[in-house]
Amino acid sequence: MVKKLFYCFIAMGCLIGISYFYLSKHLTEISSEEYCAFCDVEVLNRQKFYEDDLVFALYTHKPILPGHCLIIPKRHVERFEMLTDEEITQVGRVIKKVNQAALNVFNTSDYLILQKNDIEVSQSVPHVHFHYIPRQKGDDSTLKFLAKMYITNLQNPYQLLKCKI
Ligand SMILES: [Zn+2]
Repeated sequence: MVKKLFYCFIAMGCLIGISYFYLSKHLTEISSEEYCAFCDVEVLNRQKFYEDDLVFALYTHKPILPGHCLIIPKRHVERFEMLTDEEITQVGRVIKKVNQAALNVFNTSDYLILQKNDIEVSQSVPHVHFHYIPRQKGDDSTLKFLAKMYITNLQNPYQLLKCKI
């Protein structure tokens, strides 16, 4: 019985993984035109909570968990390797600041930094961005976390932004 359950979980994991990359890539291809949400002043004004010379920190419009936010360079670049050393350093500093804020406000402990480069790994907005996703100590909802991450990635960010959530 335990063995069957184990194989069932493995099969479900494979299915979810394959559909995740296929569908998120497909949605990205449909939506990638000239528009960049992270260069849109309206989006920045609505979601920005931190700004310095090089970097913004934004609330995400589709948070996976409380405290989930985005750290982005101000300059429009599509991939990590296109960032200058100064931008990389400043992004790191801002991640530390955001982490401290999440510790204070959401009482979080551990966190995940996620950054994707291009369509093959399902980058949804063609502007370098770092997801900061904190979790609270003792939060045992790993399955819920993975399911939410999967579902959120299938949503088209451009459609959601046009709805002005
Ligand atoms: Zn941009």
